[in-house]
Amino acid sequence: MPDIIQLLPDAIANQIAAGEVVQRPASAVKELIENAIDAGAMAIKLIIKESGKSLIQVIDNGQGMSETDARMSLERHATSKIRTADDLFRLRTMGFRGEALASIAAVSQMEMKTRLPNEDLGTVLLVEASEVKKQEPVACEKGTSISVKNLFYNIPARRNFLKSNGVEMSHITEEFQRLALAHPGIAFTLIQSDELLYDLPSTKLSQRIVNLFGKNYQSQLAPVQEETSLLKITGYIGRPELAKKKRGEQFIFVNSRFIRNNYLGYAITSAYEGLLQEGSFPFYALFIDIDPKHVDVNVHPTKTEIKFDDERAVYAVVWSAVKQALGAHNLSPAIDFAADVNLIGKLNSQPLSREQYYDEQFSNSLQRSNLQNWEKLFEREVPNSRLFEKQSPEKTTLRFESAINKREVQETGKTENGIFQFQLKYIVRATRHGIMFIDQQAAHECILFEKYLSQLKGVPGNSQQSLFPQTLTLNAPDFALTMEMEREIVALGFRFEVFGKNTLLISGMPAEISGNEKELFEGLIEQFKKNQSELHLPIRENLAQALAKRASLKAGQELSSDEMEALAARLFSCPNPNFSPDGRPTFFIFDSSKLESYFTR
Ligand code: ADP
Ligand code: MG
Repeated sequence: MPDIIQLLPDAIANQIAAGEVVQRPASAVKELIENAIDAGAMAIKLIIKESGKSLIQVIDNGQGMSETDARMSLERHATSKIRTADDLFRLRTMGFRGEALASIAAVSQMEMKTRLPNEDLGTVLLVEASEVKKQEPVACEKGTSISVKNLFYNIPARRNFLKSNGVEMSHITEEFQRLALAHPGIAFTLIQSDELLYDLPSTKLSQRIVNLFGKNYQSQLAPVQEETSLLKITGYIGRPELAKKKRGEQFIFVNSRFIRNNYLGYAITSAYEGLLQEGSFPFYALFIDIDPKHVDVNVHPTKTEIKFDDERAVYAVVWSAVKQALGAHNLSPAIDFAADVNLIGKLNSQPLSREQYYDEQFSNSLQRSNLQNWEKLFEREVPNSRLFEKQSPEKTTLRFESAINKREVQETGKTENGIFQFQLKYIVRATRHGIMFIDQQAAHECILFEKYLSQLKGVPGNSQQSLFPQTLTLNAPDFALTMEMEREIVALGFRFEVFGKNTLLISGMPAEISGNEKELFEGLIEQFKKNQSELHLPIRENLAQALAKRASLKAGQELSSDEMEALAARLFSCPNPNFSPDGRPTFFIFDSSKLESYFTR
C-alpha cells in the first residue's frame, strides 16, 4: 500500500486554525485591537460595517511594520513577541501565538497598510484566503491599518452560522468596551456604518468609565484599592443604586486581561450583601495584579476563563476590598476625579496588609496546640495588625455604641467572666487592646469547615448510628451525584446504602450534629449544588463548606459562657480564622485607640 499521509497545504491549515481563533467578527476585532495595543499605539480607531460581516477595520498609530515584516506577520506562528505560552500572563503584550493574522487572512479578504515611523513610504498588501495577491509601496500614515472584508466569504457554512447584525454588533461592542476599559490611556474610536458610536479620549480610568457608560456614573463610582502580599486590586465599583437588571457591566481584569471567573464575581456581589435588590447586578471594573505563578492560564487564545491556585485567598481579599469601598463610599458620596486610583502604582509599598496578616500572623505564630493560651497570643498579635484599619468609622461606631448600651446588654445579652453574647448573634469580649466581636455563626462555619476538610483529606470523621434508619428518594441527577461522592460523604460521617431506584437508606450521620439525618443529607446535597453554581470550589472544599453551612450553630442560638469560650478558642486555632469559608468576616475588633480618639478632640 502506498503512503497516504500528507501535510496539509498552509491555506487549509490556517483555515482550520481560524476556526479556533476567529469565531465571529468580534474575535477578529479583539485580535486586531490587541495587536494595535501591543504595537504601542496611542490612538486606535475601529470601523465596522454590517456588524463586521462586510468590514472590520482597525487603524492604529503604533510602530508599524517593515515590508518584510508585513508579509511575515501573515505566516502562522510568526510573532515578534517571542515567548512561551507560560509567559502569557507575565507579559504586557496581548498576543502570544502569532496565529491571529494568519487565521484572519485565511478566512477573509484582507488589506494591510503599514508604515514605520522613520520611512517615507509604507507598504500595502492585498490577501485573499491566505494568498498574497499584491504587495506594493504606498503613501500612508505611520502605523498600521488592517481591513478585514467579507469575513468567512470562502467558508459559507461559517458565514451562515453568524448571528443577526444586532447580536454580532453587541459582541463587538463588548470586546471594544473591555479593551477600552483596560487601556484608558489609549484613545479609542468606534464607527459603525458611518456613525460615531464612541469617541474616547486618552484619560484615566474613572473618566473612561464615564465616557463609556454615561455621565450618571460620575457620582456613582467608588474607588477600590487594596494591596496584599498576594495581589493588588484597583478599580471602581458602582453604587448599589446603579445596579442593572442585566449582568453586562461587570469587568474583571487580571494583569490587564479581561477574564471571567464566577467565583470572583460571586465574591464581589456578595460584598454588596443586603444592598442589592434581588436579580440586580452592580457595575464593577476591577483590576487585579498578581504574580502569574498563582494563575492557572488557559492557553487557548479565545478563552477568558482562568483559575487561581488559592481561590479562597483571592476571594477574601477582593471581597474585603469591595466591602471597604462600599463602606468608605457612604462617607464621601462623590469621588474626586482629580485623585484617580493609580493603576500602575508601586508594588509592595504598604506595610502590613490584611492578607499578610492572615498568612503570617495566624498561620505561623499562633501555636495551635496551645488552645488555652489563644487569647494571650492573640492579644500580642493583633495590635500591630492593620486588619481593621480601613473599616468604615461609621459602622464601627454603630456596632460599638449598641454593644455598650447598658440597658440593651441587660435585655439582650449576658455577662460572665468578661464574655457575653450580644443579640444572640455575637460573642463579645474585652481584650487588652480593644473589644472583640465574634460572629458566632460565621465562626462556627469556619471551625466546622476546617474540621470537615481535614476529615476529607485525612482521617474520616466519626458517625453516630441512627436508631431508625430513614429512606431518602432523590431525583436521578442528585442520586448520581451522591453516588459519585460516596466516599467523601462517608468520610464526613454519613452512612448510607442504596435501597431501590434512586433511593438511599441513611443509617448514620456525622457525630456531634443534632437534627434529622434525612434533612441534613438533603440539605448537604442542595448546598453542594448551590455552591457548585456559585462558588466553583473543588469537590472536597465544596462538601466541607456545604456541611459546615448546614451544621453550624445559627444566629439566635443562646450560648453559655463556656460554649462561647470554647468557640472562640477553636476559632483561633483554625489556620484561617479571619473569614468563614464563603468569605464573611468571623470577628472584628474595636480598637481601644479608636475609642480614645472619640473622646479627645
Ligand atoms: P501575535 O500577536 O501573537 O504575535 P499576530 O498574528 O496577531 O500574532 O501578529 C503577528 C505579528 O504581526 C505580531 O507579532 C507583530 O509583530 C505584527 N503585527 C500585527 N499587528 C500589528 C500592528 N497593528 N502593528 C504592528 N505590528 C503588528
Ligand atoms: Mg496578536
